[in-house]
Amino acid sequence: MPGAKTHDAITVVSGLALAPIAYPLLLNGGLSLEVSGLDTALVVGAHCLSGLMFSPDLDIDSAIDNRWGIFFWVWRPYMRIVPHHRHWLSHGLVIPPLLRLLYLFVVVSLLFGGVALALAQIGVVVPDYPAQVFDALLLLARAHPREVFAFLVGFITGGAAHSLADWSVTGGKHFLHRLGFRLAQDYSNHDQRHQRQQRW
Ligand SMILES: [Zn+2]
Repeated sequence: MPGAKTHDAITVVSGLALAPIAYPLLLNGGLSLEVSGLDTALVVGAHCLSGLMFSPDLDIDSAIDNRWGIFFWVWRPYMRIVPHHRHWLSHGLVIPPLLRLLYLFVVVSLLFGGVALALAQIGVVVPDYPAQVFDALLLLARAHPREVFAFLVGFITGGAAHSLADWSVTGGKHFLHRLGFRLAQDYSNHDQRHQRQQRW
């Protein structure tokens, strides 16, 4: 399996490679130069965001959740819910990237709900921000469906590029194995459990 740095390079290169595909497609769809450029930037940006910050390796590679800084703990439950061997939940083409986006929203909403409940005990009432954010996202999707679609497409391809890279390495190893070459699984750069243990 490629390590975090290799995956980062794959993410950025494949993201940039999407631009000359998305831009003419959008232009041919009858959009203006500006709108095509904006939507292309959204696809590329979401692709990189997904690959770099919402990597499928969030459950095993602390190099990824370290990128969330002081909010790294947001991904603690995810590591328990999606152990790495469950590849259909962490490594996949379409559902896993969307699942991670949904996960973040649900966890942040639950945390906020807990804080709001605790504050209510001492008489402090806070607005229901998660519901407001959800309504705002629905409004955004209705007002700018093409841009939201462009973002989601990029977000999905960002996760898919990672999974395809992992699968190609695994497939390549199986192929070499059939030819008589034996390669040991190398997680030395991929799984930094030791570092996480030190942090805790
Ligand atoms: Zn992986």
